[in-house]
Amino acid sequence: MNAKEILSKLTLKEKLMLTSGKDFWHLNGNEAAGVPEIMVTDGPHGLRKAAGSEMNVGDVVPTEAFPTASCSACSWDREALKKMGEAMAEECIQEEVAVILGPGTNMKRDPLCGRNFEYFSEDPVLAGEMAASMINAIQSKGIGTSLKHFAANNQETYRMTGSSNLDIRTLREYYLKPFEIAVKKSQPYTIMTAYNKINNVPSSGNKLVLKDITRDEWGYNGCFITDWGGAHVHYEDINGGLDLEMPGNKQLYLKDTLKAVKKGLITEEEIDRAAYNVLHLIEKTIDAASKKTPYDKEAHHKISKEVALSSMVLLKNEKNMLPLKKDDKILVIGEFAEKPRYQGAGSSFLNPPKVDSLKESLDAAGIAYDYAPGYDLKNMKDAEANAKLADEAVAKIADQKVVLYIGLSDEYESEGSDRVVTKFALPEAHQTLIEKVLAKTNNVVVVLSAGSVVDLSFADKVPAILDTYLAGASVGSALCDILFGKVNPSGKLAETWPLSYDDVPCSETYGVEKNQVNYREGIFVGYRYYNTANVPVRFPFGYGLSYTTFEYSNLKVSGNKVSVDVKNTGKVDGAEVVQLYIANKTKATLFPAAELKNFDKVFLKAGETKTVTLELKDSDFEYFNVEKNAYVIAKGDYEIQIGASSRDIKLTETIKKDGDTSSDLDKYKGSWYTTFKGKPTDEDAKLLGFEPIHEVPTRKGDYTLENTVQDVRGSGFGKIFYKIMLMAVRAATGIKKDEMDTPQNKMTLEAALGISFRGMAAMSGGMMPLWLAGILVGFCNGFSRKSKK
Ligand code: BGC
Repeated sequence: MNAKEILSKLTLKEKLMLTSGKDFWHLNGNEAAGVPEIMVTDGPHGLRKAAGSEMNVGDVVPTEAFPTASCSACSWDREALKKMGEAMAEECIQEEVAVILGPGTNMKRDPLCGRNFEYFSEDPVLAGEMAASMINAIQSKGIGTSLKHFAANNQETYRMTGSSNLDIRTLREYYLKPFEIAVKKSQPYTIMTAYNKINNVPSSGNKLVLKDITRDEWGYNGCFITDWGGAHVHYEDINGGLDLEMPGNKQLYLKDTLKAVKKGLITEEEIDRAAYNVLHLIEKTIDAASKKTPYDKEAHHKISKEVALSSMVLLKNEKNMLPLKKDDKILVIGEFAEKPRYQGAGSSFLNPPKVDSLKESLDAAGIAYDYAPGYDLKNMKDAEANAKLADEAVAKIADQKVVLYIGLSDEYESEGSDRVVTKFALPEAHQTLIEKVLAKTNNVVVVLSAGSVVDLSFADKVPAILDTYLAGASVGSALCDILFGKVNPSGKLAETWPLSYDDVPCSETYGVEKNQVNYREGIFVGYRYYNTANVPVRFPFGYGLSYTTFEYSNLKVSGNKVSVDVKNTGKVDGAEVVQLYIANKTKATLFPAAELKNFDKVFLKAGETKTVTLELKDSDFEYFNVEKNAYVIAKGDYEIQIGASSRDIKLTETIKKDGDTSSDLDKYKGSWYTTFKGKPTDEDAKLLGFEPIHEVPTRKGDYTLENTVQDVRGSGFGKIFYKIMLMAVRAATGIKKDEMDTPQNKMTLEAALGISFRGMAAMSGGMMPLWLAGILVGFCNGFSRKSKK
């Protein structure tokens, strides 16, 4: 197929039809012109292909569940991500899927984001590098990827209608950066625009972000597609740079867009561009997606395990509590040992052919242990039942080493909602269990399982903590190997673990600001904040222990090459993540204490030394100068730091750079960005160059197509409509009344009901035309005012 040739033969209408999907997972083809219909589907930690109704998130074909991004990022291992990407592509080939919807590379602004498990890191370099590795691997097999969610998509609360409001430097240097790295290094075949708006301009048609920055500055040559139901006015989106609107909805926008062409609101060139990018995507992927070649399921499960082994993070290990010995007396407490949580909930949900539990893996390794569930995963909110299980578990404690397996279960953390149930805290059942266990013994190894950061205020009372994050379908066997020292842990945290949620710079407004979310803290997110403001943390970014020790020496900086010798000084083999930070010591503007610029993971036998060489680019010294509206290098000193974590800098060397001599530092004097007292205010934010917006709730009479089904409950008709919608969604998905509370079902329901009227039409598969959505909004308004768009 030749995209250019085909494009030249298509009519305007045919071209436009290509810019909207065919159905939930397929692109429109054109039989007469020889354009096949390709399939695109989730992602991002394995292939999720619907087996039945696409509305039923749980009904998917069996495929390997690899560690989630929040876990795999802790490997800091580009090679691991590469292997995982290749395996995922092989599964796509077998299932005839042309594009897998991932990876997700948004920054973690707040630990409570329900989707943090799907994102790599709070650091753009780590996140961008991990994403690029995975994308290159998948695309090396001819399968496309979809880098998502572009951009500044950092909360699930009001996820389809909210606006992320922020200044240009923060947008570019922080929230766009991981995408920039991935685009430049791997050219993802598609980029999925986010549901949210950026400074009140929809991401789906954000000209500044899509055209001016991504295409023109970064040289992106792929296809921009919307998130599912995340389109706005189609011709405006295309004008802003969008190429494809998903999912298919029987050409909801066709008529209006044709009219817009006639009225001169959009040119044919823009439509040609969008149609060509869609055709080119099909051209690039169709061969691989038609090969249908079986893959080795066992081999993929092994890859999943390798990634998990490289990613688990040893957070604490006093008196060498770990590794455990085979003849230790062991008591395992926690139902996760039988029913591990190994993946997140929502559109990334997978159905792996086999899941290794810790119990099975201990049995297979011939390790004797006693076991008590300690809590009931199906019934986490029943305090009495869980307290009884905790008591039963505690009654078994004698002189064993206790492996206490706790964390967040699905209902506490899921796509579609932020962590609002217990917020930062562990589920109550787990808190009670910890207290009861610690009242009896301190001989405890805590094993954590959660997609994100949780409160560990008990940390000082336990000698050992091992974090598995959500480690994929091989979690149990990987955990067993690490607990017993068959494999030496080498994961390092890809995000900071604060001491308390209050320490998070946006904690006062996160989830409180719904449709207007103001990023007052600017670039001071994660370790960029904690390390600059000297806030004590539980565990810093980049931190992780090993069963061996490493020594750093002989730092050399020569041009843009930095080299250092690393020696394994312990008795066991192990891998170390060597981290390169730059501290900008110039006074050009506000800077974080230091920022990660490169890293490498190196495996060293006991006693072995290797020289690790890390490259720097000129752009690693740049910052975005708002006045000049350009990246510049400031004249002055830069400290090159080599560290084992962001707070464990082993060696430094200062170099000088020539460059720009301007400074705007004076204007920040006394502001939050220099005092770090309390939380940033609107006045502080204005210094960054944006005006925080305070949301005024929409009232009856003012509803538009952009309001959600939940929003319009302020009107009598809206209330009834909401109830009807709930019933309709339940009927379509088969969700029973008493099953509405399970995480998968909650997510399906919330996604359906937290949707805007426009989104609803877009997701209706053609059942709800836009005019009908407009009439419904009119009814909600009591016809006092009609929706405009
Ligand atoms: C999610 C995307 C996903 C898409 C298709 C959306 O709700 O935000 O990440 O790829 O659905 O399932």
